[in-house]
Amino acid sequence: MGFLGMMVSPEYGGNGMDTISYVLAMEEIAKVDASAAVIMSVNNSLVCFGLEKYGNEYQKQKYLTKLATGEIIGAFCLSEPEAGSDATHQRTTAEDKGDHYLLNGTKNWITNGNSSSLHLVIAQTNPELKHKGINVLIVESGWEGVVIGKKEDKMGIRGSDTTSIMYNNVKVPKENRIGDDGFGFNFGMVAGLALQLRHLELHREHMNLLFSILMKGKLLASR
Ligand SMILES: Cc1cc2nc3c(=O)[nH]c(=O)nc-3n(C[C@H](O)[C@H](O)[C@H](O)COP(=O)(O)OP(=O)(O)OC[C@H]3O[C@@H](n4cnc5c(N)ncnc54)[C@H](O)[C@@H]3O)c2cc1C
Repeated sequence: MGFLGMMVSPEYGGNGMDTISYVLAMEEIAKVDASAAVIMSVNNSLVCFGLEKYGNEYQKQKYLTKLATGEIIGAFCLSEPEAGSDATHQRTTAEDKGDHYLLNGTKNWITNGNSSSLHLVIAQTNPELKHKGINVLIVESGWEGVVIGKKEDKMGIRGSDTTSIMYNNVKVPKENRIGDDGFGFNFGMVAGLALQLRHLELHREHMNLLFSILMKGKLLASR
């Protein structure tokens, strides 16, 4: 039905809907299956949005057109064992090798980790420049050196897979960098804001569920 690329412009195979329509659709889907809503939200907000806003025409034609139709699903890889809230301390490195980057590191708690074909990976290229030395790279999950970790045994929303991902000497062509050299931190912050909004949405769903369980308990007790 096109929910996976709801806000992407029709030019790239999406539905061109506005944010309010997207949130309404996600709320309705989350009422029935919060896992499906999470998969949809990561693909729309964290992957398609950034790619459409900051990617170049080559990247949009090659990847966004498939993400927008749901032919492939994307993942957003910022968090690390040592870098959660503090995204400036990326240990994942993207060494500049001229025509490509050599990517090494581990990302944790990645939504769609196992089911995605494409990852947007935030990595440090120039540590001396601190947050201005961070890049964001488009990495295909089938490339040599990409290893998907085991699925996290979560308490809920288990239909949405959360995994770690290891990158071992992955060669990423330069044309797969989004934006100028050093743009990765800004990209991560824009997308990270979308991630926090998603967590608030999930929190709201949990509270709604808890409330309905409490209300059912109250009704039963009053009988
Ligand atoms: C189900 C699930 C799915 C996820 N999906 C993704 C994903 O797709 N991609 C991705 O990149 N990440 C994902 N994450 C990771 C998530 O975004 C991180 O858990 C989050 O960024 C927080 O990082 P952390 O767990 O390391 O906590 P920490 O950074 O260690 O923070 C712990 C606590 O300390 C607080 N804190 C931290 N720093 C400060 C400070 N300076 N001042 C005051 N308080 C502070 C935080 O608010 C938090 O309450 C996912 C996590 C979960 C649980």
